[in-house]
Amino acid sequence: MDSTSREIEGAVKTVTIKRDPLGDLYVFFSCEIEDRPNHRVVSGESAGADFGLKTFLTFSDGSEEVSPLFYREGRKAIRRAGKKLSSKQKGSNNRRKARMALARVHKRIANQRRDHHFKLARRLALRYDHLFLEDLNLKPMQRLWGKKVGDLGFSEFVRILHPQAGKAGSVVHHIDRWFPSSRMCSACGTVNEALDLKDRRWRCACGTVHDRDRNAALNIFREGASSLGLGDVRPSGAIAV
Ligand SMILES: [Zn+2]
Repeated sequence: MDSTSREIEGAVKTVTIKRDPLGDLYVFFSCEIEDRPNHRVVSGESAGADFGLKTFLTFSDGSEEVSPLFYREGRKAIRRAGKKLSSKQKGSNNRRKARMALARVHKRIANQRRDHHFKLARRLALRYDHLFLEDLNLKPMQRLWGKKVGDLGFSEFVRILHPQAGKAGSVVHHIDRWFPSSRMCSACGTVNEALDLKDRRWRCACGTVHDRDRNAALNIFREGASSLGLGDVRPSGAIAV
């Protein structure tokens, strides 16, 4: 077997073998998993995270997960295979082969991405009791960066993350109202209306210099944590009520 999408858990009940249109074989195991009481050891760690292009996830606690290189390499490989395809004569055998080759590149990248997402989701689910994310449908960059955002598969990752968190006994929250996570200063709460998507670092009128993604992650964490009532999470400059 070339790769396993994830570890096999529990007792194997059925095994199904399927072949896809590219001729690759898949072995599916269906397993019975005992209902275990949740033995999760609470890590005491919670964080907010912001999705980005270079850094896949930037966390409010200072850690980050970079985008794996194969994202970029994959895009190059797709471009190369696409060029080859368009250079072949329509209806020819070579064109058929080139089309298969392109489909294979797409599939390899999708598999790598899925594998990466599963491993990352599992790791995060064990690391954090509560993880706060933005609602991706509302994220302005989804609209602005369109295709690139789709390539990175943020939504696919979120779909994988939820069940992994459920299994590990951790909780993923999406902050449920739009608020200016990138444009708000996490130190004083002032909103910088002039902030541009290109601005990776910026200085607030209060003097604090922000890394764009880290500042957003901090705001996401505070917004989410305060809605859950997890301790004092007001921006440090805010007036206590
Ligand atoms: Zn400020």
